[in-house]
Amino acid sequence: MSDPSEHSAPEAGAGERGLPGAGLVKGLAVTLKTMTRRSTTQQYPDVAPELPPRSRGVIALLEENCTVCMLCARECPDWCIYIDSHKEEVAVPGAARPRQRNVLDRFDIDFSLCMYCGICIEVCPFDALYWSPEFEYAEYDIKDLLHDKDHLGQWMGTVPPPPAHDRNGEPAKEETSAARKAAVPAARPTAPAVRPEPAPGEGTP
Ligand code: SF4
Ligand code: SF4
Repeated sequence: MSDPSEHSAPEAGAGERGLPGAGLVKGLAVTLKTMTRRSTTQQYPDVAPELPPRSRGVIALLEENCTVCMLCARECPDWCIYIDSHKEEVAVPGAARPRQRNVLDRFDIDFSLCMYCGICIEVCPFDALYWSPEFEYAEYDIKDLLHDKDHLGQWMGTVPPPPAHDRNGEPAKEETSAARKAAVPAARPTAPAVRPEPAPGEGTP
């Protein structure tokens, strides 16, 4: 059997117990240090906070870019995007038949359900949705958190401009493909290639 005294806590010595009143002095030192430091409390709402430009505040809609492809509504994990549309015929001069295009009737986002994951913005292939850092749209009635397309369009004015390109990054795909297209005509021969004359007796049965 092991000796129980082996596992018992060692008795605190006189030095570990400390001097009487040492804790009080230590606490006062912390108080003094904190008193001389600048406060980090934000005085919201008297002073607006400085948020990073890419903060996820509210989703803005650029209606003219929306083609009603429904990708955002299909990918939204909360099913909180509601889209309605109708088809319209557009006469194209010179075309045999008129073309059809989708016209957006309804585009609502219910911010009482939205979890701000940003998937709708990521998947939109036509750059119709953007993050705005605006966050002051609390409502007394939860039903008012359903923003229609006009309301979502008004947030576009608060969307910050895109960040500048990284100078050390790769050039944009559009730039490289435009440069490639511009280089192709220069590489092409100006005169059509002349087929070599067949040798006598060559190519005849
Ligand atoms: S941010 Fe996410 S949850 Fe909100 S509408 Fe977009 S996809 Fe849906
Ligand atoms: S993914 Fe973009 S273009 Fe398609 S319906 Fe949504 S907002 Fe419109």
